[in-house]
Amino acid sequence: MGMDHNLPFSIGDVVELLGIKVVRNTGTQLHCRCPFCDDKKAHLNVRVQKNVFRCNRCGKGGGILHLYAAAHDISLNMAYEELCRIYKTDSSLQQKTPSTPAIIQPEMPIASSAVRNNTYSNLLSMLSLGANHRESLLLRGLSGEDIVKLGYKTTPAVRAPKIVTQLLERGCELQGVPGFYCDGDSGRWKLDIRGSGIMLPDRNSNGEIEAIQIRLDKVYKSKFNNLTSVDQYYGTSAACCPHFVGVEDGVESVYLTEGVMKADIAYHLSAELGCPRPFVGLTGVGNINQYLRALEELEKLGVRKIMVAFDMDAAVNDNVRKAKDRVIEAGCDAGFDMTPMTWNPQYKGIDDLLFAVKKKRLSILEERNEY
Ligand SMILES: [Zn+2]
Repeated sequence: MGMDHNLPFSIGDVVELLGIKVVRNTGTQLHCRCPFCDDKKAHLNVRVQKNVFRCNRCGKGGGILHLYAAAHDISLNMAYEELCRIYKTDSSLQQKTPSTPAIIQPEMPIASSAVRNNTYSNLLSMLSLGANHRESLLLRGLSGEDIVKLGYKTTPAVRAPKIVTQLLERGCELQGVPGFYCDGDSGRWKLDIRGSGIMLPDRNSNGEIEAIQIRLDKVYKSKFNNLTSVDQYYGTSAACCPHFVGVEDGVESVYLTEGVMKADIAYHLSAELGCPRPFVGLTGVGNINQYLRALEELEKLGVRKIMVAFDMDAAVNDNVRKAKDRVIEAGCDAGFDMTPMTWNPQYKGIDDLLFAVKKKRLSILEERNEY
């Protein structure tokens, strides 16, 4: 208990080591006299389990190493070396890759889905969708109403520090939420935006936002990124979930596709066409664990039949075809009725196909009006 993910000593150890006066101990929190300011009371709050501290008077805060480093005015690396020496652990054994110099980034265990949902919902509620992003979604066939309902937002840039402050004021937890990390120098929480684009909430079968995917403006290797703070101090790696949209209690069959955005667009287009279809989007077709989780949840919801609506490049791309075969096999093994779908390969994804149907229908309606 109270041990950091990667460090062989707790913040309680360091408080004791530094001789910081503990005024009150609640078991989970230590209220201490702050050694960094002219604190006469107990403004320094130490969360024992989470291994973090913060002074409500001077604002100093951070993790175990920050506390020790600040007390001795040394670097985080040096704090790490010294503490390892004091607690008689070989610091070289603690480093994951001995060849990289000792910048220590303890990674936080991921917060519960309820915590992530609360923080992400609050985060998205503070942001807006840029005009160019709205335009690009309209071009993919979504209506203005759909776009509002989906809650997609543009990644923040300049306002990021303000956003973090507002989230903290709203009582949101940031620790263990992918995308948030602790700045090594200031000890303040920050939001890690690694590329600009459209933020897409990845919702589980309960409608909770477990992760945020980003449709990148500039595509290098991939069109999508996940909101993550991996490799940052007190950061957390992203963990996407199978994305459920329009999957209500009592549905018998669902459509399986790739990605959050594709599932969202396909669902909304099917609804506009008068026959809403439930969709599950996998955020990585190769991710078998995520798929197995989707199967488990679908079974609980009473779903019997899965229509596999992967992109039509399965016909030409060997890897995609193999992934599709594995999906069908695992689905059958789990007792589902698996039906692979195919369509005119001119339309790559199920969303492209539905959009083509919508356009066709609109053009027929227009012709009728004209004549
Ligand atoms: Zn202070």
